[in-house]
Amino acid sequence: MSNQVPIAEGLFTWPADQPALLGSRCRDCGIANFPASTSCMACSGEDVAVEELPTRGTLWTYTVQRFMPKTPYNSGESAESFQPYGVGYLELPGGVRVEGRLTENDPEKLRIGMEMDVIFEPFRVEENGDEVISFFFRPVQ
Ligand SMILES: [Zn+2]
Repeated sequence: MSNQVPIAEGLFTWPADQPALLGSRCRDCGIANFPASTSCMACSGEDVAVEELPTRGTLWTYTVQRFMPKTPYNSGESAESFQPYGVGYLELPGGVRVEGRLTENDPEKLRIGMEMDVIFEPFRVEENGDEVISFFFRPVQ
């Protein structure tokens, strides 16, 4: 079985039976931030705590990316294999907005305000065979 590694440390719980994004919530003003940071983006307070974020939210805004992203954000695609993909912000309960790729790239099937789940899937495969895991937003079926 191939090894699975998170795309970045500290972005989400991994390995985990039910992985979740990790944000930081400010104890002073209550605003949550993703990715987790050591100070509050809203009030600059430093009394923040890392917490698991909800795994379902609503699509706040989105677009369809039709150009290959530059490294390190590409997923190992070539110009020939590249497929347009959706990218957007998911608004999670508690007010935090998270930017990520969507599993859906058909604008006909996307609308602002729709419910989406945060899922964790292989993003690319490294030369040593490791699967790099990232998070994606998938319309609730
Ligand atoms: Zn704050």
